[in-house]
Amino acid sequence: MPQATIIGVIPQYPIHSKQQVFSKETITSLGLVYVMSQIEGHNIYIIDENNYNGPVDPEGLPDHLELQKARPVKMALFYGGMSISVPRLYSVAQQYQQLGVVTIAGGKHVENMPMEALTSGIDIIVHGDGEKVMQPIVDAIIGKDGNIIEGYKRNLEQILGLSFFGNNGEYVFTGERSPMTAEELSGLKDPNIELIESIEKRWSTIPISWGVGCNHGCEFCAVKDKYRKRGIEKLLNQVESAIDLGYYRFFLVDDHAAQESDSSIEMFAALGDFLRERKPKKRVTITTQIRIDKADNDELLGAMRYAGVTTVCVGYESPIDEELKAMNKGVTVKKLVERSRKLAKNFYIHGMFIFGYPTFKDSKYKSDLTLEEKTKRYRQFFRKGRIDTIQVFNAVPLAGTELREKLDREGRLIPLSQAGWDKYDGGFLCYDSTPEGIDPRRLQDTPIELMERKYMGNALGKVLNYGRWINWTANTLGFPLRFSTSYVKNFFSNLTKKEKSFFEERVSPLGNIFYTPLKKAWKAIKRDWRTTFCNAVAGKIIGKWKSIYRKSNYSSILEKLRQRTKGYSLKTERKQYDALE
Ligand code: SF4
Repeated sequence: MPQATIIGVIPQYPIHSKQQVFSKETITSLGLVYVMSQIEGHNIYIIDENNYNGPVDPEGLPDHLELQKARPVKMALFYGGMSISVPRLYSVAQQYQQLGVVTIAGGKHVENMPMEALTSGIDIIVHGDGEKVMQPIVDAIIGKDGNIIEGYKRNLEQILGLSFFGNNGEYVFTGERSPMTAEELSGLKDPNIELIESIEKRWSTIPISWGVGCNHGCEFCAVKDKYRKRGIEKLLNQVESAIDLGYYRFFLVDDHAAQESDSSIEMFAALGDFLRERKPKKRVTITTQIRIDKADNDELLGAMRYAGVTTVCVGYESPIDEELKAMNKGVTVKKLVERSRKLAKNFYIHGMFIFGYPTFKDSKYKSDLTLEEKTKRYRQFFRKGRIDTIQVFNAVPLAGTELREKLDREGRLIPLSQAGWDKYDGGFLCYDSTPEGIDPRRLQDTPIELMERKYMGNALGKVLNYGRWINWTANTLGFPLRFSTSYVKNFFSNLTKKEKSFFEERVSPLGNIFYTPLKKAWKAIKRDWRTTFCNAVAGKIIGKWKSIYRKSNYSSILEKLRQRTKGYSLKTERKQYDALE
């Protein structure tokens, strides 16, 4: 049977979004890889524009016209999960559409903005889990001769969970499709990372997935599907095939790994057993995202360490009780601190925060702290919580969230003509804070100042490039003293601590009374060095971000908000923009 060629595109992030603490990692988006791995009978390849060394256009961007000349495709699939890369997605999709290629997109952003996507170069939106329907979609579009079937949209009407403009130009939504069950998830083919071609660098980290969705309903989060998970063997397969390719660093991308504690313990234990049996050439390390309440479960923490989890990413969001309540986080600051300190004993912690969470006319919970007082709270919290690395964002009103709805209702969203989707990465204030009496420029600047302070120290530290020089020197000269103190401390605590949990015993057996404290002391030193290294890198990244921001005209947009006079209304401007659209 003649085959068609189908391309998948993971669109490039804007330059400012590449200046993030994790931007040095080379990692891809697993969603599109998973979806395209389900397609049979055709030639499939994926381009990740964020790690690409193929032909480029005069602006240095991947040249899809050249790609199409070299390898003509009938369908182009796009990853539309990240709002920040949506402008690039639409621009590439339009190029393919003009060439007669059928363009398809899925992911949280396009799902929540179907009309925008369908009028911006996308022919078909796939809502929900695309893996389930990808093959039927391909079969509905590509005929037995390998060409696009004329009037194929009629065939699509049979597939639930799709949006498109019908053959007569009418908007069609084919109806809700239920999310995939655990059995269906387990029945999927494993994702094949090698579908991604023309990569510039080897991946530094491989994304793996076990569960999808989340049962918590945080107001600002676009993840709304309930939690489900595939069979443990499906996760092990992903790890095994990556190890076969020589990869040893993983990111478990589940929105909230360890959502169900008991089954998660089982999964991490199985992963630990598998790795011990498989004996990879290098040590496997895993980073994952969990909710802070999981710190209460010692067995789970032990199992995570046993599996090779070294770093956890935690969405603390705020060290202010009223804000935590407003976000539906279901936790208090006191608990956050206790749990964070406990997590820090087991893992490196990457903490994610939102600064100045907005309140509304009808908000039940409002903090009356000033911006300066809030800043102080954050700084204290970073210390108390023993958090290794941080990211502080402005609240991002993502499409499909309650937060966006509320801001929209009060006419506070900055029009997309000024704060386009590319600004939705947390580095830019995308809503009007003046109704709360907050200067938007101060609110914009504070998160970056908090990160600067954490990574580079005070004003003197910034001038001297504190993170890079003073800390390196202090760590080097202080090494013998620090190591000896840590050794003695661990020696005595090891003597007194006799009982260990099942996993703890396997991760760090009591062993030799001299060797074990030595190992622990070395670990503490390693943490210091890691922190120093992160400070140096993060300090540099922040510097770059600030220089990009200064060159943009964004502060003048915020200044305009600040100086609002009678007669200027954000609501009116927004309406004008919507009318233009
Ligand atoms: S922020 Fe995290 S915990 Fe909250 S709904 Fe989203 S994925 Fe779940």
